[in-house]
Amino acid sequence: MPSTSPWDGPDLDPVRDLARSFFAKEVEPNVGKYIDAHHVDRDLWNKAGDVGLLCMSIPEEYEGGGGTFAHEAVLIEEQARIGDTSWGVSLHNGIIAPYITVYGTEEQKRKWLPAMASGEMVGAIAMTEPGTGSDLQAVATRAVREGDEYVINGSKTFITNGGQADLIIVVAKTDPAQGAKGISLIVVEADREGFRRGRLLDKVGQRGQDTSELFFDNVRVPVSNLLGESEGMGFIQLMQQLPQERLIIAVAAVAGMEVALERTISYTKEREAFGRPVFGFQNTKFSLAEAATTARIARVFVDDCISKHLRGELDIPTVAMAKWWTTEQSMDVLDTCMQLHGGYGYMNEYVVGRMWADARVQKVYGGTNEIMKDIISRTL
Ligand SMILES: Cc1cc2nc3c(=O)[nH]c(=O)nc-3n(C[C@H](O)[C@H](O)[C@H](O)COP(=O)(O)OP(=O)(O)OC[C@H]3O[C@@H](n4cnc5c(N)ncnc54)[C@H](O)[C@@H]3O)c2cc1C
Repeated sequence: MPSTSPWDGPDLDPVRDLARSFFAKEVEPNVGKYIDAHHVDRDLWNKAGDVGLLCMSIPEEYEGGGGTFAHEAVLIEEQARIGDTSWGVSLHNGIIAPYITVYGTEEQKRKWLPAMASGEMVGAIAMTEPGTGSDLQAVATRAVREGDEYVINGSKTFITNGGQADLIIVVAKTDPAQGAKGISLIVVEADREGFRRGRLLDKVGQRGQDTSELFFDNVRVPVSNLLGESEGMGFIQLMQQLPQERLIIAVAAVAGMEVALERTISYTKEREAFGRPVFGFQNTKFSLAEAATTARIARVFVDDCISKHLRGELDIPTVAMAKWWTTEQSMDVLDTCMQLHGGYGYMNEYVVGRMWADARVQKVYGGTNEIMKDIISRTL
């Protein structure tokens, strides 16, 4: 079906074609392997860099693609089309690279962005700690300045791309007495002494993703690794960038609903029970009609958010609405799709069951849905 999204147009066709063929050739045949290994092949990043799928929305002067968030949205949709969540490319492209682009000094941008665009460096962001997730101001990781260096101590958990990351944006306290104003973002390269990765975490879904623990034990980085010009800006930087992270989650949620529906419509038209296609039962038609309506409403809302974001007009409460609502609806739609697959829906060989398990965390990460409602309620 042609796209009805107002932000989508013929100028995005080449990137959609490229992404679709890349996922079909390089990712889809390997998803089972990634799930077993709990990570993608490291050279997938380099292959994606070679064809221009990394850092598409980063300026060309830093060897990015010079595109916009629309390019990243297309990539997210095409990844959803094959039901993959193993490859943390939307985080690398849509979250880590923008932090460096927006807040980095010229030197930082020149040093890290070309390496991220080629796949030489994989990015991650480490906010969450064993003791704190939602309450970001309570992070215990410390960065103490000693001369021209910061000495970082602390531990992080649930870090997407944590197993393969070469460049980690660490949320640390540079001045614990200052609360939110004492938080800074400091970039740590993974080859620094004292940095250690923990386990690849054993998750309910997204099992091909190398989500992991990270430990920082007297890790020394030059003060020039501070993101931005001055200490204490971390919390504000996070608040400014989290909307794009939440929009990415909403885009993935909508695309997931659409893909699951497409697959379920085909399945129910083929599968027979009591001598007729499962699609022939009124319950199936009504369930799919309801799910299709939900997916359509979600699409219209998220399309509006994307258009606003491209114009620089997307506000924090609106994207919080999109994040919580689409991720809740996605669970309902995926549950319906799974039910209509009968027992096969619960088998990993059918993508719909895996999508259901993978989607559940969307209600949790990027700020839980309860936190989203808290953000919205403050504006009421
Ligand atoms: C697969 C996966 C990938 C992730 N990737 C990353 C990553 O790359 N980087 C990163 O830094 N983090 C990442 N996270 C962490 C994620 O962002 C946190 O899990 C999330 O923010 C919630 O924090 P928490 O787990 O500590 O839960 P808690 O904060 O302990 O929350 C527990 C419950 O209490 C509720 N709650 C908390 N505060 C309030 C409140 N004020 N009002 C109402 N209810 C409240 C929550 O909504 C939740 O239901 C990831 C998590 C997962 C599972």
